[in-house]
Amino acid sequence: MSLRALLASANNALVVKEKVSVDYGVTRILAENQDRPVKFVDLNGFEAVGNLFSTRASIASALGIEKEELLGKMLRANDHPRPTAEIKNPEFRDKVVEDYDLKDLPIPKFYPRDGGRYLTAGVAIAEFEGKRNLSFHRLMLLDKDRFAIRLVPRHLFTMWKAEAAKGKDLPVAFCVGVLPEVLLAAATSTDYGKDELEIASALKYECSGSPLEVAKLKGGMHVPAHSEFVIEGRLTQEMVDEGPFVDITGTYDDVRRQPVFKVDRVYMRRDPIFHIVLPGGLEHYLLMGLPREPMIFRTVGQAVPRVHAVRLTEGGCCWLHGIVSITKNKEGDGMNAIMAAFTGHPSMKMVTVVDVDIDINDDRQVEWAVATRFQAERGLLVVNNAAGSSLDPSASGTTSKIGIDATKPLGENGFDRAELP
Ligand code: MN
Repeated sequence: MSLRALLASANNALVVKEKVSVDYGVTRILAENQDRPVKFVDLNGFEAVGNLFSTRASIASALGIEKEELLGKMLRANDHPRPTAEIKNPEFRDKVVEDYDLKDLPIPKFYPRDGGRYLTAGVAIAEFEGKRNLSFHRLMLLDKDRFAIRLVPRHLFTMWKAEAAKGKDLPVAFCVGVLPEVLLAAATSTDYGKDELEIASALKYECSGSPLEVAKLKGGMHVPAHSEFVIEGRLTQEMVDEGPFVDITGTYDDVRRQPVFKVDRVYMRRDPIFHIVLPGGLEHYLLMGLPREPMIFRTVGQAVPRVHAVRLTEGGCCWLHGIVSITKNKEGDGMNAIMAAFTGHPSMKMVTVVDVDIDINDDRQVEWAVATRFQAERGLLVVNNAAGSSLDPSASGTTSKIGIDATKPLGENGFDRAELP
């Protein structure tokens, strides 16, 4: 379902009718209403929405599926990308402006020490040597036609580096206000060269039986046709300070020298709705973390006979802490599941492995399993000096990881919760 269809069908949305400032105007309202969508009617003259995808249930319902189906469908979409379908007259072409002043967009400043106004829901699309890549990057507004981009050394970085070596800029388009299929696909971690737009198309096909529609930009690239805004430009070799910025952990990320994204053209619908993801909010957690769960499911499934469910927990920002439920065949399966889980999501710092009788969506049940089934002497794995998340303020360069095997010993009584009489 498109962003606007979703917002129109949300019967619990908070509608903020009064004019809201781009300077800190949205932060508290979004933070205090994370259980429902918030629509801003006038943010710098535009409509904007946040908290649309802040629960698993809302993401599933936006895809037209049950939340229990999410993991399986994301796995199948990753394994079987499908072609997109081109349409000729996308609505984002309603208004096409060269020399657009980016300061006129409804891009908010969120926190007092942030380095500037930040675009947070933009999906970057780039093509290089016949390969396409989709990824999320925060953009810090610099002036009328430039952003600083945070470019972690992954696929887009690789493309940018390769073009820079030839002395060229890398053409990139940022899409804002895209379908949830595109948001989830852009946050998956796949091999270099695997086209996340075709993963999005496969996910759309899995969920609603039709491919993802795309449309061509003036520069020649194809982008999701249902984008509310498209910002077309190029990654240059000019470097500037980016940050500080409150990221997923709710703490300030550092200032780094990062490339400039120079904008050539802005496209928007006649009545566009801007998507805002509150940094460190539940929507940020889920859009970033949810696509990692299938990866963990896969690697654990390769290591132990039965894996039932995986969850990155909200307490760990849906990024640093995870829970896996398995059925053991032999002693040691729990420990192997821990090691496999870390390979499925290298940013994970703590994983807890439980039996299938524990509901991994209930943090108290998981803690109960740790309290009654776990002994550090035999069930704790500590891995020091590993690469982890750059977003964890307690990690310095490398990180220490812990795995907790809270599965009960095989063939022993005394570990099951008593049944009610
Ligand atoms: Mn990629």
